[in-house]
Amino acid sequence: MRISRLSGAALAVAAGALIGVPAAQPALAAPGAPGAPRYSAGAAGVGDPYFPDQGNGGFDVQHYDIAFAYDPATRHMDAVTTITAVATQDLDRFNLDFRGPEISELKVDKHPAAFTRDGQELIVTPRPKLKSGQVFSVTVKYAGTPPVITDPDGSLEGWVPTDDGAFVAGEPQGAPAWFPGSDHPTDKATFTFHATVPEGITAVGNGSLVSQTTENGRTTFVWDSAEPMATYLATVTIGNFTVTESATPSGVPIYTAVDPRLVTQSASAVSKIPDIIEYFSSVFGPYPFSSTGAIIDRAPNVGYALETQTKPIFSSAPSVGTMAHELAHQWYGDSVTPTKWSDIWLNEGFATYATWLWTEHTGGATAQQTFNNSSNYGRAATSSFWQTVLADPGSVDMFGSVPYNRGAMTLHALRGKIGDTAFFKLIKDWAAENRHGNTDTAAFIRSAEKASGMDLTAFFDVWAFQKGKPASW
Ligand SMILES: [Zn+2]
Repeated sequence: MRISRLSGAALAVAAGALIGVPAAQPALAAPGAPGAPRYSAGAAGVGDPYFPDQGNGGFDVQHYDIAFAYDPATRHMDAVTTITAVATQDLDRFNLDFRGPEISELKVDKHPAAFTRDGQELIVTPRPKLKSGQVFSVTVKYAGTPPVITDPDGSLEGWVPTDDGAFVAGEPQGAPAWFPGSDHPTDKATFTFHATVPEGITAVGNGSLVSQTTENGRTTFVWDSAEPMATYLATVTIGNFTVTESATPSGVPIYTAVDPRLVTQSASAVSKIPDIIEYFSSVFGPYPFSSTGAIIDRAPNVGYALETQTKPIFSSAPSVGTMAHELAHQWYGDSVTPTKWSDIWLNEGFATYATWLWTEHTGGATAQQTFNNSSNYGRAATSSFWQTVLADPGSVDMFGSVPYNRGAMTLHALRGKIGDTAFFKLIKDWAAENRHGNTDTAAFIRSAEKASGMDLTAFFDVWAFQKGKPASW
């Protein structure tokens, strides 16, 4: 793709140099002339170091409209997803990421398009071809049972059936289980979901509930996620839920959906949502989305929580600390998102450190005490914990303790190095400057150096890029 663009630019320069030359060069007016489309295939992936096939080249998704009916009893889904995208090159072919059930129809704009499938790649041949800058839609109709995806670390994601519905989570590669798209964190888009489920069951999506209508024993929930979202943060989780709607003191709407079997055990964590959002808003800056909440489901085979945008999802009753961790991700992870998965510490280190701050704020251990304890700096220098590089933990260990604990320790050590004033300004500015965007470790280091006026090369070298237990910094 880059080569084709460069050769196009070179050709434009060559042709420009010929201005004024009489019509002796008719060959240059052939299809390769400037302005004429130069069609090629979009890249199959964006080349992420951990998941190279994720995402796609040649277009930028603007919006997903995902409409489906799902019956928990049969685990059958009937779906139509419409993607609105802008071509970023002249395209005669492009890929989507999709691991879902059988496709019965695929259209680009109004035209049926040929397609093939190869693993997670859905390869589409649009006719007419697409010109760079063109806005186009892809409508994919599919039906069947969406798959459960097993991650490199053995955990389950994608569309995970539960005893009353489905637990739906997509980090880092589960989103294509239930909708086709460009499944890399760098291609954020807005989303609308239309989920139809048997009456009495609730379908809980990201963003705001636009409508809820029941007809002929089925209820359709329409959810709208108005702020850009990475695909891995999308959910429409389905089941029996006790729903509560309220608001934070500053007016952010809260929607919580709790499995009735977990209401009592979850009460403490749910009751703290307004306080957590208010406290984090004071430390990190304004809450980045137009609503918040939580989905607390019973999915014992999942065993983790995920910061699904606006409403983190929990597979069991969460502690207050876990609730704080997932809500902190709304700033760091969901709004400010890594450009590549190897920078996962920018998500997990920040969310873990946020929980240390919350614990101290509510009268528990100080951040310094947590830094020092046996799960953190107190670990033996010989432990495997210190032999993993923070800024490149590997796809198997990306959700291991290093991005979380060593990440939080790196932030606390940085705070000690540059002082509270510079540190808290830094993390607030980081959230504001990268709001709804993507960024990386190198940019964070530049921001930290700017905030502190210090050269932090040696500091980040020992904390983020080297194996071994930092002894001084
Ligand atoms: Zn996390």
